[in-house]
Amino acid sequence: MTRDLTSGRRPEILFPYYTSLTALKGVGPKIAPHLIKHTGPYVRDLLFTLPVQMIERPVTRIAEARAGQVQTIRVTIGAYHTSAGKGPQRISVYDDSGDLQLVYFHAIRGFEQKHPVGSQRWISGKIEAFGQTLQMTHPDYVVDQDSRDQIPEFETVYPATAAVSSRLMRKFVQAGLQNVPDLPEWLSPPPDSGFSEALRSAHSPTAPSDLLPQAPVRQRLAYDEALAHQLALKSRKQHRQASPALSISEHLWADKALAALPFTLTQAQFRALEDIRDDLRSGFRMNRLIQGDVGSGKTLVALMAMIDVAEAGHQSVMMAPTEILARQHYEKSLPILEALGINTILLTGRDKGKEREARRAQVASGDARVVFGTHAVFQDGVDFQSLHFCVIDEQHRFGVGQRQRLFSKGESVHYLSMSATPIPRTLALTQYGEADLSILDEKPAGRQPIHTAVIPRARLSEVFDRLKAAIASGSQAYWICPLVEENLESDLIAVEARHKSLQDALGHEVGLVHGRMASNDKEAVVSRFASGDLPLLCATTVVEVGIDVPNASIIIVEQAERFGLAQLHQLRGRVGRGAAKSACILLYDTPLGATAKARLELLRTTEDGFVIAESDWKLRGEGDILGARQSGFPAYRFVDPVAHADLISKAAREAQYILQQESQLSPERLKALDVLRGLFDWRADQADKAD
Ligand code: ADP
Ligand code: MG
Repeated sequence: MTRDLTSGRRPEILFPYYTSLTALKGVGPKIAPHLIKHTGPYVRDLLFTLPVQMIERPVTRIAEARAGQVQTIRVTIGAYHTSAGKGPQRISVYDDSGDLQLVYFHAIRGFEQKHPVGSQRWISGKIEAFGQTLQMTHPDYVVDQDSRDQIPEFETVYPATAAVSSRLMRKFVQAGLQNVPDLPEWLSPPPDSGFSEALRSAHSPTAPSDLLPQAPVRQRLAYDEALAHQLALKSRKQHRQASPALSISEHLWADKALAALPFTLTQAQFRALEDIRDDLRSGFRMNRLIQGDVGSGKTLVALMAMIDVAEAGHQSVMMAPTEILARQHYEKSLPILEALGINTILLTGRDKGKEREARRAQVASGDARVVFGTHAVFQDGVDFQSLHFCVIDEQHRFGVGQRQRLFSKGESVHYLSMSATPIPRTLALTQYGEADLSILDEKPAGRQPIHTAVIPRARLSEVFDRLKAAIASGSQAYWICPLVEENLESDLIAVEARHKSLQDALGHEVGLVHGRMASNDKEAVVSRFASGDLPLLCATTVVEVGIDVPNASIIIVEQAERFGLAQLHQLRGRVGRGAAKSACILLYDTPLGATAKARLELLRTTEDGFVIAESDWKLRGEGDILGARQSGFPAYRFVDPVAHADLISKAAREAQYILQQESQLSPERLKALDVLRGLFDWRADQADKAD
């Protein structure tokens, strides 16, 4: 059942796929490191890099040649205007309809001997108009009549780097394809073409439509990849569900804590807590994800489970990606935990010297039953006496290896993760296929809807006036400015300028936090804001994750068009947490494109994170693999998570079926499925991605 987890037993038929690229014909010691960096170490990795574009090289005559297009022409070499030293090398060529210049910006030694004046040649490349003259700079091809067929009518273009050109890629791919065998069929019923055959066709497209995700060959490859991935996820899940862990069934303390809260849990929170308690009781390891929109109350649910574990006499830890968040979790939970007499501590990177040693000693002795913290909790030197439960907030912000280090502090720990990043339901399969899922699809009672307005920056002074009035009547607000690495300098200046103008306009101190500040300073400002000391916090997206200040009821986002939709939704979730009516003002700079307008409009009309996520994907259009990568999707080579969403669902169902029926499948099919797993090898890929 866990065959894919055992290492070193790759089916022999795959050896050609797992041959090192250095063994490939034409891959010399100079190019090899560049190629390996570009695609990966194996022939497989090269072959799994598919062409991205097709260039057509239609044949034409000079008189009909169109500037800006790639064309193929039969010409006669006219004259060389080559200069010995500087300046471009120019060669006149002609046909019966006109003439054209070939231009080279580097020396072309031996060219004249190879292509003497008067000889007929086929040339192919991009035509440019230079005043009245037509020219072709650095032709892609100059060949004689006999080599005419070297110029393809369609040419596939590969992802390239400065060191590895598309043409080299094509050459290596062709060499690699020669060596790979046909593989046994793992799909049932068998499709028209086998895997290796499909791979060969994917590298020999005959029309641009062959490159689209919907092309049958691409679908076959994508389906195989999705199936291999789902098989890996689901068998890890099976494996985990069969690994024994401490059974914990205490819940009196937590029930007491719940009864003392000034509110009751939502139905969704109750269901999630029941799911978690079932897992804790089961005697097998928990791996559960609570997914819930911002403000749906995930932390509280996790806290109740931590209390259960404490009551059973064991330790648990809640790890958050930032110091601000970890401290907030700690401070919010402390009163509840203290009331029950549970010893609780906070571990962050800020602890130094004696104090750090004292805290670590409490963790090691088991004195501290509940631990909150940042990355500091999984460092060497932090040892638990009896860790049985790990909660990770915003789990996608941590690498696989970091999570593993935390788990290794205990024995067969139960694991609960929390995520507020709404992703389309169909895609949750790929990201969280390994975990069980509890969804908080309900907001705590009494929350007012957030009024969202989309306003051009031209109306800034109006916004200032309204903000001033709101603050005068006791409201608190966030003012968010964009800050991205590419624009770091100018963005920082803009944030600081805005901070100053807000202070001037309000005549009151305004807090300022941005990602470039030291975490002590950031925290000091945030806690002054949280305590009500500062009415307004001018910030970059550092406040995006999780900050919880219920009295804040207004959020203004400047240059909202520069933020991602999910990010804006997260930001908006900072308000609407208390009983007061809340507002979100999205300021934009003009002119605003149609898509940008549609995105902001979507936020104005809905507060449902799932609807926003789903539409965001559609608005971004298909094939936004980059966007997919950013949201933490696995490193797929063939699957386009948007365009192939239905394939992923289908693969998930088939993987489930295969694992359930495993004992009844024929030995041939089982062997073929092993080949599939070995071919994609998600185990290795996951390890690579760690941290
Ligand atoms: P999330 O992490 O899901 O964004 P939080 O856990 O930060 O949400 O909860 C937001 C706020 O709502 C916290 O102040 C929390 O104490 C409060 N809260 C949680 N559950 C409820 C509930 N059922 N009713 C009222 N308030 C709640
Ligand atoms: Mg949270």
